[in-house]
Amino acid sequence: MKCLNCDCEKFESKNIRFNPEIKGEEVEVVVPSFVCTKCQTPLMDGEQMNMLRRSAADKYRKHHHLLTSEEIIKYRASLGMSQAAFANYLKVGEASIKRWETYFVQDIVQDDHIRLKCDEAYAELNALEVHWKSQSSDIYSGNRPFCLELFKQAVRYLIGFTKSPLFLNKALFYADFKHFQLHGMSITGARYVHLEYGPCPDQFQNIYQLFLSKGILTSGGHHILKSIEKPDLSVFSDSEKEVLEFVAQMAHKDSGQKLLKASHEEQAFKKTEPLRLISYEFSKELKI
Ligand SMILES: [Zn+2]
Repeated sequence: MKCLNCDCEKFESKNIRFNPEIKGEEVEVVVPSFVCTKCQTPLMDGEQMNMLRRSAADKYRKHHHLLTSEEIIKYRASLGMSQAAFANYLKVGEASIKRWETYFVQDIVQDDHIRLKCDEAYAELNALEVHWKSQSSDIYSGNRPFCLELFKQAVRYLIGFTKSPLFLNKALFYADFKHFQLHGMSITGARYVHLEYGPCPDQFQNIYQLFLSKGILTSGGHHILKSIEKPDLSVFSDSEKEVLEFVAQMAHKDSGQKLLKASHEEQAFKKTEPLRLISYEFSKELKI
C-alpha cells in the first residue's frame, strides 16, 4: 500500500470523520481508515470502504425513520430465512436484500412493505386502520370517522389523570359522549361497547397493546399505564380541549373512581345490551 499523496508506505489505523452524500443529502460518520503516517491522507481497504458506505446509509435511514441495515437483518433472522428465502417472501430480487442489508437505502414504499411483512404489531395496526377507514361515520362513532391520532393524543392526555386502563376507558367515554352532547360530534370517532367493566372503546385491548409495543405507552406496574411523551394538544379544537380538561379535572380528584361509578348508571350503559355498540344518542341523558 502506497500513499496516493506522498508515496509513503507507512500507515496507521485511525477513526476518521467523513461527510459522504446519500441521495443528495450530506451525512456525517466516523469510521476506521488507514492514514499515511507522514501526511495523514486516508486510504481505505475494501472492508473499510464497505463499512463507510453502510454507516453512511444507516445514518441517512435513521434520520428518515427508515429501517437500518441491522434492523432488516434482524427481521430476516427472526423469520429464520436465508437471503434467498427472504427475497422470495418479499417478492423482490435477492440482490435487493443483499443491498438493503448493507449500503443501499430502501425507499419509503419498500420500507413499508418490509415492515408489513415482518412486524406483527405494524401489520396489525395497518389492518385495524383499514378496518376503521372502511367504516363510515354514524351514530355509533359520534358522527365522525375514527381517528387514531386523536385517540392516541386523548389517551396520552387522560392517562396522566387516570393511571389505569379501567378508568381511562371511562374518561374516554365521557370525553367523546360529552362532546357529542354539546357539539353533535365525538372527539375521536371511537365506538364504545357495553362490557362488564362499563362502557369501553371498541377493541381497546388491541389498541393499548399496540401503543405498548410501539412505545407510545409504557407499563408502570400492576394495571398502571404511562405515556412516554407529553400529549400534543394542538391537534384538538378549543371545544374538544375544553371537554377533555373537564373530564380530566373530574378524574384528577380520585383517579376516575367517580367516573367509573357514574358510567355504570348511564342510560347509555344500562339500555345497551352486553357486547353491543353504544349509540351516541344516549349522550342527551349523560349524568355528568
Ligand atoms: Zn502521505
